[in-house]
Amino acid sequence: MKTHGKPVPPGGTIGIVGGGQLGRMLALAAARLGLKTCIYNDTTDAPAFQVTPHSLVGPYDDLNMLATFAEVCDAVTFEFENLPAHAIAHLAERVWVAPGAHALAITQDRLSEKTFVEKLGLKTAPFFEVSSAVQAREAFGKLQGCGVLKTRRFGYDGKGQAKVASAEEAAKAYESFKGAPAILEGFVDFSYEASVVAARGAGGAFAAYDPPENEHENHILRRSTVPSRLTPAQTDEAKRIAKAIGDALDYVGVFAVELFVGKGGELLVNEIAPRVHNTGHWTIEACQCSQFEQHIRAVAGWPLGDPARHADAVMENIIGAEAHAWEALARTGALHLYGKTEARPGRKMGHVTRLKPRNH
Ligand code: AMP
Repeated sequence: MKTHGKPVPPGGTIGIVGGGQLGRMLALAAARLGLKTCIYNDTTDAPAFQVTPHSLVGPYDDLNMLATFAEVCDAVTFEFENLPAHAIAHLAERVWVAPGAHALAITQDRLSEKTFVEKLGLKTAPFFEVSSAVQAREAFGKLQGCGVLKTRRFGYDGKGQAKVASAEEAAKAYESFKGAPAILEGFVDFSYEASVVAARGAGGAFAAYDPPENEHENHILRRSTVPSRLTPAQTDEAKRIAKAIGDALDYVGVFAVELFVGKGGELLVNEIAPRVHNTGHWTIEACQCSQFEQHIRAVAGWPLGDPARHADAVMENIIGAEAHAWEALARTGALHLYGKTEARPGRKMGHVTRLKPRNH
């Protein structure tokens, strides 16, 4: 396992596995710091390929290609968390990889993630392992009301999830997952959703952004707003939750903790994303150091930047055909388009951030 050595100096190369919009915005941030990027993606049309000096195309489990990638990089990171464990280990033997294999392994699996969170003494929705239709029925019986059945791995934007209102529905939903291991969670009647995006440096330094309030439509993030409705005490609590998680994972880089804000004001951890996060895009304009720059700094072993927010901000995603209105959108705020040619329904095409002078 390669350990962290000296910081990667300007001119060095940061490898990024995954070439979507997150990889693209990471590459742009790296360029501003005088660092080069090499993007590894499994198809040739990755949005990040348009903005990186170096790129490689190969399957995510092609160990020879990954070894070539490791050779040209001074440090490697990820824009998505679902790389196979053996591929991560293969990279980590050759080059400094952040976040590390342990953090990725825990957060790739909803069961290990929720168990880990619970052991830290943090609150989550009640959850039960489900590996058979019989277990799905039994687990439903232990809940107070409705539940959400989720596949343990590879779920995003509501994929691999089903809301269930009876033991029968829970069993049927499990069968529709075609044998994929799952967990059944209690349905949380939350007041609203929030998240905290935070960074941890290789030496343990910690920096958290102000937690935005997040609204979803059709399971896809529509809007993130800062400041949120969280009280100062809840904001501190959200940052404390992120610090506890980051420290326990010995995490290096940016990560996000998605939270449900309960009707009584309690904060429940929904999910940990071991990467830069859609609910942190507003930091590009509203903070001195964006989440993307922060992640590059942490991975490269640089000092963390200042996460302070100097403006109020609303970030809205541009989804599918909404991108056709780019000219009108360009008049309304800071427009980011990800360079995707096909505006498929549900596809994140860009985002727009609107700022106001900071109110408090
Ligand atoms: P996830 O993929 O776990 O982040 O879930 C996606 C979205 O589904 C969340 O942002 C919530 O809006 C909703 N959701 C997920 N789990 C629950 C739950 N246990 N109770 C209520 N809503 C949920």
